[in-house]
Amino acid sequence: MLDKIFGEYKIQLSEKKIPFRENLLLAPLSSFKIGGVSPLVVEPESNEQIFEFLEIQKKFSIPYKILGGGSNLLISDEPNDFVVLRLSGMFKEFSENSEGIFYVGAATNTTPTFKKISLLGYTGLEFLSTIPGWVGGAVIQNAGCYGGEIFNQILEVDFIRDGKFYSKKKEEIEFGYRFTEFLRDKNSIITGIKIFAKKGNLEEIENSLNDKREKRNSSQPENKKSAGSVFKNPKGLDDNGLPMKSWKLIDKSGLRGLMKNKAQISPAHCNFIVNLGGAKASDVNYLVSTIQDKVFQKSKIILEKEIEYFGQI
Ligand SMILES: Cc1cc2nc3c(=O)[nH]c(=O)nc-3n(C[C@H](O)[C@H](O)[C@H](O)COP(=O)(O)OP(=O)(O)OC[C@H]3O[C@@H](n4cnc5c(N)ncnc54)[C@H](O)[C@@H]3O)c2cc1C
Repeated sequence: MLDKIFGEYKIQLSEKKIPFRENLLLAPLSSFKIGGVSPLVVEPESNEQIFEFLEIQKKFSIPYKILGGGSNLLISDEPNDFVVLRLSGMFKEFSENSEGIFYVGAATNTTPTFKKISLLGYTGLEFLSTIPGWVGGAVIQNAGCYGGEIFNQILEVDFIRDGKFYSKKKEEIEFGYRFTEFLRDKNSIITGIKIFAKKGNLEEIENSLNDKREKRNSSQPENKKSAGSVFKNPKGLDDNGLPMKSWKLIDKSGLRGLMKNKAQISPAHCNFIVNLGGAKASDVNYLVSTIQDKVFQKSKIILEKEIEYFGQI
């Protein structure tokens, strides 16, 4: 039945010349390197193609989910029964609009883009050069590190919601720690952002880039397949009056290094789960649930996931 619907769906995509790929294995598109086959991955290259995709979408009752750089997702191993939307074409570009104001497409790669902008002599965006994934994914959850968050620097977010294009100023957008209104509503397709940076001293910028890269290398499991921090840090202070950290609660529960088949709670940073090669989504899910249970038993704190599940796990 689904094959028949997808068949008709594909005919309409072809008529509108919207690029798509069939039966695509998602594991290579995820930083965990976990994920099954998607029957249909649609890759619009312009706003017009997104509008056309949404028109086609309306005619069929198959849901769709957006995949960016796949660095904050645990993707199901099962073939999914939804359409995957992955922006391409014009969404992979960035440009300097006026001095220090950049337009960055949602499908640009965060690390090289913000490294490049920093090396043009602009400061304030160096922290983003260490975050994997694409810009749309960074926007939706207000990605951040080392005291910076992408929303500190954003001026405007462009997105398509219910078939209409919007350009919203930061002041009109609800956001917080690893949260934005886009994450709650889940019916917006981020297409790009306007972001600013100040002119700075190139040597200091280079030092700042290196410093942040070194910090990351020394605190996170190196060259391991993961999706970064699995849990958000809980609100509040710990017994020593310091901000609570998920990794400390996991460590206190004695879980550092715990394995389930080829998935492991990283011995280097226990808020990371790593795929040692061949882990299944269910193995990672087992460790996620174990952490939540044990941390609750030990500390009476409910850890909230920062990673998202993509498909049925
Ligand atoms: C080693 C490692 C280190 C990390 N360190 C950090 C860190 O320091 N700080 C931090 O905040 N994160 C970190 N992360 C997590 C991750 O890199 C960020 O959350 C990243 O911004 C996610 O972007 P993505 O394109 O990979 O999104 P994906 O994982 O592809 O998707 C995440 C969510 O965003 C949605 N989405 C993606 N694109 C769009 C779009 N265009 N419009 C609407 N919705 C969209 C998806 O549907 C999904 O719900 C780390 C990950 C790894 C692997």
